[in-house]
Amino acid sequence: MRSSLFNVLFSLTKGIRSMFYMVTPNESSFENVEDVPPYVQQATPFFMGLMVVELVVSLLKDGTPLACVSDVVTSVSAGIISRMPTLFARGFEITTYIYVWDNLRLLELPWDSAWAWWLAFLAVDFSYYWVHRFAHEMNLLWAAHQVHHSSEYYNLSTALRQSLTQQFSSWVFYLPMALAVPPSVFAVHIQFNLLYQFWIHTEVIRDMGPLEWVLNTPSHHRVHHGRNEYCIDKNYGGALIIWDRLFGTFAPEGDKVVYGLVHKINTFEILHIQFHYYKYLWRRFNRYKNIFNKLGVLWKGPSWKPGKPRLGDHAEVPEVLIFGVSAFPKGTHLTLSYFITYHYDVKKNTILTIQITHSVLT
Ligand SMILES: [Zn+2]
Ligand SMILES: [Zn+2]
Repeated sequence: MRSSLFNVLFSLTKGIRSMFYMVTPNESSFENVEDVPPYVQQATPFFMGLMVVELVVSLLKDGTPLACVSDVVTSVSAGIISRMPTLFARGFEITTYIYVWDNLRLLELPWDSAWAWWLAFLAVDFSYYWVHRFAHEMNLLWAAHQVHHSSEYYNLSTALRQSLTQQFSSWVFYLPMALAVPPSVFAVHIQFNLLYQFWIHTEVIRDMGPLEWVLNTPSHHRVHHGRNEYCIDKNYGGALIIWDRLFGTFAPEGDKVVYGLVHKINTFEILHIQFHYYKYLWRRFNRYKNIFNKLGVLWKGPSWKPGKPRLGDHAEVPEVLIFGVSAFPKGTHLTLSYFITYHYDVKKNTILTIQITHSVLT
């Protein structure tokens, strides 16, 4: 009786546990990739529910919300747009993965063993570390990833601000796994790894004690989103922070983190946020006559200039102002920001997202 009650509760909580990677190999192992549930899609109500919980907690704690309506709408719109390609085809990552598995695999790890599940967990997280590090250290890839960093707020909605174009480069980093790990196992972990990164986008949780040593936490990821000098190019981890500690890219949270891009873009226009950096990159590429400088613009870091180290000189990063930093300062009351921005940003972004969704689906 007791164990059956436990089983019922356990399966009822599966949705919320999925948001924190708290799933067992037993309940998330599948023989065929077609049988793997669309965990990310299924998580939509939990995204919304947890965002409401965060809003209430931040109101109770500080008296002001940690969000602004335009910013939230922009992030949610980016989240919807970024999932568009998966509506009519399997994601790019999984499609290329299956191709390599079908044609080039060297061995077949079992799809139903706990150790293979844990190995895949580590391998996906390790690969994600490199996807993410390259996305910051190579300008051409940063053009896609900067979308995720373009908010000057830091709350759960920021997690949804995803790039439409990043998936067209990230797949490369996962291909070595396809030589041995079945696609169904990969398809599970690639989703849980992404879902895990939702809850760490919050200021409500400050410190997680000893877990900070091993896990990627809100504190570590706040540093990753910071534009303070000590935050630049730090904390790339997905679910685990151990990779940053191993490869020398870890920084603990210190001075108050100021969020957003080093060079602010001051806009909520969703298509501009997705594509503006490609235009900037093209202009910089054309500015140089020397072919090595042209190529340097693409494959070196966003701050690189001729004569500077590969990642540029971080001392040149504009100094952050702790107070009055944002064009949309924290403490702007939700109602006030709602009325100021509703007619322009919210309406425009909502209409544009609906139009894009409609034209993709019809
Ligand atoms: Zn990043
Ligand atoms: Zn993030």
